[in-house]
Parts: sequence; structure tokens; C-alpha cells
Amino acid sequence: MDLSSFLQALIPSWNSAYLLLGFFAYLAIAGSIVLGKLVPGVVLADGTRLHYRCNGLVLLLLLVALLGISAKMDFVSPTAISERGFELLSTTFIFSFLVTLALYFAGCKSHSKSSSLKPHTTGNLIHDWWFGIQLNPHFMGIDLKAGMMGWLLINLSVLAKSIQDGTLSKSMILFQIFCALYILDYFVHEEYMTSTWDIIAERLGFMLVFGDLVWIPFTFSIQGWWLLANEVKLTTTTIIANCPVFLIGYMVFRGANKQKHVFKKNPKAPIWGKPPKVIGGKLLASGYWGIARHCNYLGDLLLALSFSLPCGISSPVPYFYPIYLLILLIWRERRDESRCAKKYKEMWTEYRKLVPWRILPYVY
Ligand code: NDP
Repeated sequence: MDLSSFLQALIPSWNSAYLLLGFFAYLAIAGSIVLGKLVPGVVLADGTRLHYRCNGLVLLLLLVALLGISAKMDFVSPTAISERGFELLSTTFIFSFLVTLALYFAGCKSHSKSSSLKPHTTGNLIHDWWFGIQLNPHFMGIDLKAGMMGWLLINLSVLAKSIQDGTLSKSMILFQIFCALYILDYFVHEEYMTSTWDIIAERLGFMLVFGDLVWIPFTFSIQGWWLLANEVKLTTTTIIANCPVFLIGYMVFRGANKQKHVFKKNPKAPIWGKPPKVIGGKLLASGYWGIARHCNYLGDLLLALSFSLPCGISSPVPYFYPIYLLILLIWRERRDESRCAKKYKEMWTEYRKLVPWRILPYVY
């Protein structure tokens, strides 16, 4: 694609805006009706606390079923998303910008009596809009579910386009299966996400909204878009070799996150059938957490790699996601390490001695 057609494709459209508004209307309406476990978020500055409704799995399955039926009855086109990739991207970008502006003004209003809000200089305004004011990312019943759902919807539409074009390949099928399993697993374990960094520490500003609505769905699906335009012939051996990367990645990622979650709830719960090794009553030093201090990141990286391997090695483009994730998680691990060193002091020093590896044993 040359520059002028790329710029042309980026022009936002009303059709893209309707698609987006339909998606958010569904999330806001169905999200407030469909029941799910209520999990408390962190305490806000004014002492109140929002609750997350973990109904993502039902919402997602219902949406896919509704879209499937509507497509069958010719109400919507299954390729509606994949046919307007770039314009949908720019429309979502503008939407994120406008939503965070609205949130910013709403946040200012509700925090106007709070002494924590700094005087309004231009620097503060930009900082507050970028990083947000309000903790517990949540807007009109919509929370961090939107990005992961959007990612699956884009993938499915790309799949429909490849079927329509007659280019469906084993690579596309493998990529679709791995991503769909990962996204479904995310929603099965949605409750675990309420204790992650994005929810407990990040505020609802442009950075988070852009990351969730634009970055996750549009960049994590690059492999699918790439496969639409490029043919890859995978051999059966390559397919068989791809599967362990996904399975081992999944086992380590889910296993490590689950062990920590269980440990935080009950520090005496057995890990791999044995009593856990615990430092100072607070830090788990057995199971995956006895192999590397962020084994969960290793699992996530293997999963990311497994989404790209079906594209072969002829181009670096489909490897955007694993490369980005590698950089992000190395940076995040360093930030988390210094946070934990401050919080846990000698306990953390002892943990580092016992478990010297950060992410990948014997390498890093
Ligand atoms: P973690 O789930 O690794 O949480 C880190 C926190 O866990 C620490 O701050 C500390 O918190 C606690 N902790 C650390 N070590 C121990 C231990 N040994 N025993 C007990 N508690 C410990 O971090 P994230 O929230 O960053 O990541 C969650 C998941 O999300 C990961 O699997 C990650 O790969 C994934 N992720 C994916 C991204 C993507 O773009 N695909 C982006 C970012 C994350 P405390 O003070 O509470 O004890």
C-alpha cells in the first residue's frame, strides 16, 4: 500500500463510528443486565469503592452469538470490521480522545472539592488528561473488557474475510485458535485481573483508554491482517512444533498467576502438592515463583510468540506483538522489582538470593 492510499484509508467514517457506538452501547446495556461476580476495586480518594462485575465471558459469548445470527440473517456483514481496518483504527483513536476529554472534565467536577487536585496549569491539565484522575478504570459500565473483546471481534472478522476471499490457510486457523483460547481464558479468569497493575494502580486517562481501545485490539491482531495479505504454507511438522510453544506458554502463564492468586488468599495452600516455601509470611518462593521472580511474564512471552510463529519467518511484521511485549515486560519487571524491594525490604533481598532469575532461568 502506498502512502496516499494509506492516508486515504485512515480517514474516519460515520460507518466506523456507528460500529463503534453499537459495540459500546452493547457493552453498556448488556454489561449492566448480565449478572456476574462482583469484585471490589481499590478504595478511591473519597473513600468510596467501585465494584467490577465479572461477566465478561457471558457478554463475549452472547455478543459473538448475536453477531453470528445477525450475519446469517444478513443484518450485518461478518467482514464489516476487516473491510475498514484503518478507518476504524482512526475513528477509535478519535473516540478515545473525546472520551478521555469528557472523563477529564467529569473527573475535575467530581474532584473539585478534593484538596489532592493540583492548581490548573497547562502541564497539570495535560498530565491529568494523559494519566487520568479516577482510579478503577470504569466508564458507563464499560471497563477493561472492551479491548480484549475488540481483539477477538477483529480476529473473527479477519477470519471471515479470509474465508470470503478463499485464502483461508492453516496458518490463519492456528493463529485464530491460539488467540481465541487466550482471550477466552482471560475472561474465564477475569476475577484475577482485578488485582493487576492496570486496575489497582493506573488511572482512567488517555494512556489507559488508548491502550485498551486502540493498542490492544489493533496491534495484537497484526498477524491476522498480515496473513490476509501474505500466503504462508505451513508444513505439518511446523504446526506440530508450534503447539508446544502455546501449551507450555499457557501452562506457565496461567499456572504462575494462579499460584500467586491462591497464595494471596491462603498462604498455606499446597503448591504442586507440597507445603509452600514462604519468605516472611508474605512472599511465595516455590512453584513457578521459585523458578524465576516473574515466571508469569515468561509464559506470556511464549504465548505471544506462539501467535506469530504460524506466520513463518519471512517478515518481522507479524512479530510486532512478541517484540513489543518483551520490551514492555522487561521494563515492567524492573519497575515491579524496585516497588517490591521498597515494600518488602529484607524479605525481598532474601527472595532474590533464593530465586536469582528475573524472567528466564539461566538467561535473565
Ligand atoms: P504480577 O501479576 O507479576 O504482579 C506483581 C506483584 O505480585 C508484585 O508487585 C507483588 O505485589 C506481587 N508479588 C511479586 N512476587 C511475589 C511473590 N514471590 N510472592 C507473592 N507476591 C508476589 O504483575 P502484572 O500485574 O504486571 O501482570 C499480571 C499478568 O498480566 C502477567 O501474566 C503479565 O504477563 C500479564 N500482562 C500482559 C500484558 C500484555 O500486554 N499482554 C501487559 C502487562 C501484563 P504485592 O505488593 O501485592 O505483593
